Parts: sequence; structure tokens; C-alpha cells
Amino acid sequence: MSLRLLCTAAGRRLLDAVLPPLCLGCGEIVETPGALCPACWPDFSFIASPHCACCGTPFAEDLGPEALCGSCLARRPRFRRARAALVYDDRSRRLVLPFKHGDRTDMARACGGWMARAGADLLADADLIAPVPLHWRRLVTRRYNQALLLARSVARQSSAILAPDLLLRRRWTGSQAGLAAKERRSNVREAFEVPPRWRADLAGRTVLLVDDVLTTGATVEACTRALRRAGAAHVDVLTLARVVRPAL
Ligand SMILES: [Zn+2]
Ligand SMILES: [Zn+2]
Repeated sequence: MSLRLLCTAAGRRLLDAVLPPLCLGCGEIVETPGALCPACWPDFSFIASPHCACCGTPFAEDLGPEALCGSCLARRPRFRRARAALVYDDRSRRLVLPFKHGDRTDMARACGGWMARAGADLLADADLIAPVPLHWRRLVTRRYNQALLLARSVARQSSAILAPDLLLRRRWTGSQAGLAAKERRSNVREAFEVPPRWRADLAGRTVLLVDDVLTTGATVEACTRALRRAGAAHVDVLTLARVVRPAL
């Protein structure tokens, strides 16, 4: 097999078909593609109930299905509900980073399955599934939008329509890293818009917004603002991982 073939997508698919599937955590051989080996499974912090009814922050004890966390009680986010498959920690960071910056697009299928399970209620209500868009400048360096890969994978397990171009990022916002929650919010406030061609189809619809990691929620709140302004009835958020801060 030539080196050139190995570098192409077709070559990669061929290799996937020939080589045994590897654990997403440690690279050991596993039985099914996109799985974790039994040793890695307990290392990943999957989020299950009980959690905040709004933002999905996991709770140490069950406070009832409608219970809200302190942060949502103090300031209710613009989106209706957010759910994530994993806590964003050292372990899931190692899963998300190569996916974000490398070429591990094969991970999208497994991650989409975990997300569909974590966000089953949200998926059942969704009319449209949309990824948080990348600015074209970032798309040039990264070549693909990982949120779109996840959205596509999630949409395969739902009857909702995948709408990759529902949101446009009209402004380059730079990196959000190192900014406080308030600064993040003002940095991205007017960064997103819904193209006019979507307006008629968006009215009264429920949108499921998909991203890789939920940090402060500033980006998805800015997206929610644009979607609601364009007529969406509800916006829910589903991410692969989310930052969980210790309870105050
Ligand atoms: Zn493993
Ligand atoms: Zn909350």
C-alpha cells in the first residue's frame, strides 16, 4: 500500500476495515469500533441523573427532577436545557483534544452515541439539530468543524433535521480561553446570525444546538439569542463534555 493511499480518506477507511478496532481511551484492541476497553471505562466520568433540570450540572444528591443548581437559580441561561455526556476533566480532555486538533474524526460516531443517550429527552423534542459554527478562518486551519461532526452523528439517531448552516459566525471572536464568564459573553454577544433563508422554517421550532465542550455557556447563549431572535421557540444544548465547577 503506498504512503499516498494511506494519507487519503479512502486509505484511512481501508485501514479501518483491515485493522482491529482500538479503545478510544488507551489504544488497546477492543471488540467493537468506537468503544472503550473495560479498563478505561471507569476512568471516564459519564454524567447521569441527578442533575440540574436546566443546565445539567451533576448533583451529589437527588433533589427532585425540577431542581435547579445555584448558578441557574441566580441567573437562568437563555437556553432551555443543556446536557453533556461527560465531565470535562483530564481523561475526557485527552479524548476531546485529538478529536479537535487531530484527524480522529472516527471518534465522532462513538461520541455521538454517548451524547444521544445523555440528551435523549432533548433529542425527542428537537425539530432541527444545528452545530455551533466555526469562523471560516478557523475552519481553514482545522479543516473541519468538530461540532458539525458531532451534530451529524447525533442526528443519525433522531428524526430531527440536521441543519449545518442554521447559524453563521459573522465575526471573528478570537480565542475564548483566559476570559472570564462576563468577558466571554460580551465577546461573542453579536457573533452569530441566522441566514435569511432559514427564517421561515425556523419560526416556532425547537432547535438542538450541538458543540464539543460547554465551558461557561457564553457561546451557546449567544447562539440561542440569535436563534430566538430569528423565531425559534426553544433552544436546547447538547455537548460531548462540560466543565463542572465544585458546588459553591
Ligand atoms: Zn482502554
Ligand atoms: Zn443549572
